[in-house]
Amino acid sequence: MDRLGSSLFIGGKWVPSRTDKHFDIVCASTEEVVGTAPEATPEDVDAAVLAARSAVDDPDGWAHWDSSKRAATLEQFADVMQQRGDELGRLVTLQNGMPTTIANLSEVVAPPKLLRYYATLARSVRLEEERVSMSGGTTVVRRVPVGVVAAIVPWNFPQSVTFFKLAPALAAGNSCVLKPAPETVLDAWLIADAAAEAGIPPGVINLVTGGPAVGAYLVQHPDVDKVAFTGSTRAGRSIGEVCGRLLRPVTLELGGKSATVILDDADLASTVQGLFPCTLVNSGQTCMLGTRVLAPRSRYDEVVDALTAFASALPMGDPFDLHTMLGPLVSSRQRDRVERYIALGRKEGRLVLGGGRPPDLDKGWYVSATIFSDVSNDATIAREEIFGPVLTVIPYDNEEDAIRIANDSRYGLGGSVWSADPERARAVASRIRTGTIGVNFYDIDYCSPFGGIKDSGIGRELGPEGLAAFQQLQSVYLS
Ligand code: NAD
Repeated sequence: MDRLGSSLFIGGKWVPSRTDKHFDIVCASTEEVVGTAPEATPEDVDAAVLAARSAVDDPDGWAHWDSSKRAATLEQFADVMQQRGDELGRLVTLQNGMPTTIANLSEVVAPPKLLRYYATLARSVRLEEERVSMSGGTTVVRRVPVGVVAAIVPWNFPQSVTFFKLAPALAAGNSCVLKPAPETVLDAWLIADAAAEAGIPPGVINLVTGGPAVGAYLVQHPDVDKVAFTGSTRAGRSIGEVCGRLLRPVTLELGGKSATVILDDADLASTVQGLFPCTLVNSGQTCMLGTRVLAPRSRYDEVVDALTAFASALPMGDPFDLHTMLGPLVSSRQRDRVERYIALGRKEGRLVLGGGRPPDLDKGWYVSATIFSDVSNDATIAREEIFGPVLTVIPYDNEEDAIRIANDSRYGLGGSVWSADPERARAVASRIRTGTIGVNFYDIDYCSPFGGIKDSGIGRELGPEGLAAFQQLQSVYLS
């Protein structure tokens, strides 16, 4: 990556920033500096947006290519991302501490999978539809690219979340300015390099690096046509306010505090086997996790014991070790935040597991898997997103009570329901107000819409709906 270091990618070229300010990219497991990147200036962002604008405005350019030609180029992009998968996974683990096993399952496979999925969809979606108009004439309904997309992403699943946006945006014929999180820039540089190698035309993908100020400048840029954001509810609210004022389309994928509802007939042995991806994956730094575990009062102690046995058996340590299931948190700032919630949890509930740093790991921002029992749904640790390996177990009286508690949240992004009777679980799931929910498992499906309600966001990514979100409709009335 050395040849790319400390650069921005604008108009198909690696260009130095005009800034003299750089920030370090730090390895979460060793605390060593593994790279530096420029804090882009407003002029840098202007140049990136201008390059993106030129790419979509070119009458012979990307936006006007035949869908099948764009799709073929996206498939080449997928091939290059796949060839570089090992390097990509290594960089993600190096920066944010995501265990290699998880990076291989998500971050390495997501880019090629999503690019191929949206290439196929782009070939099949009708871009023009003729309708008989009310006056007896014809109206042609066209689906055209939105234009210049600002894609702003977090560090937790940097590749998946980026390609949730890039793949459909590019398939629809848009150009993009990507701003990765400052914690995960190295893998984003690789995206730009791979795009160039795959023949994505200059200006279609541009990359600027920096923190919130760079993102905020990009969001309000007059030449940006749509903002696609994933991150915290706090930042999303501010971006939504700006986009509202500017009447600019925006999708906001934000935080969560979902419920894992264990019904009274659930087989606990098989339930806990399925809980890792929906409660603790990526050390709890995953937006859709069901970190509020709702347990029937009649089996409360049994659930707490089963959860404790499950969580305490998860190997924690070097994220490059293939046995590791729990790595470090992304940064000291994130660990401070999680430790503040744990301190609060000691007052609000009963600590049954963890509660601090693992004694045998003196480097890296590790926090042990932590469980609080006897927590009320009104407790702060049950209401606010912690974004760490911290679960609260909340008792409920009956099914109605479980549904009421699950819905008693500012958030609505994920969740799951567990029962020996899948039909019963499905009926309960259908009454939980959330954007996505699993029955006896949870796994994001790239073919179906993903996103949240309430404070978890606005709009949907993935599936055909994710492509439509990057298209504008135009009705052409023919007499
Ligand atoms: P964050 O909101 O602080 O930062 C996310 C990105 O936005 C970064 O690139 C950051 O530089 C940028 N940014 C921050 N403030 C901005 C502003 N005002 N204007 C423009 N850009 C801004 O979030 P984080 O701490 O990096 O990530 C964790 C959060 O992301 C959690 O709350 C988590 O739930 C959420 N998340 C949501 C999803 C989802 O799909 N719903 C997925 C992953 C993470």
